[in-house]
Amino acid sequence: MTPEPRSMSMRLDVIGAGPAYTDRPGATGAAYLLRYAGASLVLDLGQGAFPRLAGLVDPAELEAVVISHLHPDHFIDLVPLRHYLRWEEPRRRVRVIGPGALGSRLDGLHGESGFCEAALDIEALVEGRMKVGPFELEVARVQHTDSSFGFRVAPAAGLAPATGDAPAATPGLVYSGDCGRAEDLDALARPGDTLLCEVSFGAGPVAPGAEHLDGPAVGALARRVGAGRVLLTHLQMGFDRAATVDSVRARFDGGPVELVDPGFETTIA
Ligand SMILES: [Zn+2]
Ligand SMILES: [Zn+2]
Repeated sequence: MTPEPRSMSMRLDVIGAGPAYTDRPGATGAAYLLRYAGASLVLDLGQGAFPRLAGLVDPAELEAVVISHLHPDHFIDLVPLRHYLRWEEPRRRVRVIGPGALGSRLDGLHGESGFCEAALDIEALVEGRMKVGPFELEVARVQHTDSSFGFRVAPAAGLAPATGDAPAATPGLVYSGDCGRAEDLDALARPGDTLLCEVSFGAGPVAPGAEHLDGPAVGALARRVGAGRVLLTHLQMGFDRAATVDSVRARFDGGPVELVDPGFETTIA
């Protein structure tokens, strides 16, 4: 596989942007690849994401996979990743950072204790900032399951391009995971960031009891935090795409708003 040229901007490839179920052939569970300074980081790895990921990078060379929560549409393709490492790259391991129960959940799914241990180095997510290779990962709890997280990813301090005396201005990507309260993401976002937000319920409203977002909530979030642009994802069946985008634009005019699909790529700069 041809190595990516080193870039001073983070690059995002949308591997999967699907919800938990869909009737759209080719739709893929949540998975987003970030590349920076020769390193690759994956946020979530939902159903069908592994083969698409392997078409872009060697999965054995990932810096880490970060899992937002333990719904299968966000982590189930850790199973093929584990098998790939175990049988194709037995000397390679991949770091996986996720909710504390992730390892036992995967072992239980496969009915085999030690299933993960054979190939994956699993660590529990904690709130706050951590360095993952050349990336800075910031973690915040969000309302969804008992253990769900949103993230901000940016070039780690000292590696980012010089921006005068304001390194905090380096743009980042804020990813909502699945989130039932947009305000939980406010603390992660800096002005000018790209928001990658789930919009499960389209133009809304969110069904009672469903811990998800809709367009109006995402638009209000983008306006509050001064986002640079908004990428929408995880739209459920039955919701109109154009109406969903319009419902965000009605509340946010500070930058582009678009729905993303597998194959979408951009730089975060
Ligand atoms: Zn989901
Ligand atoms: Zn979920």
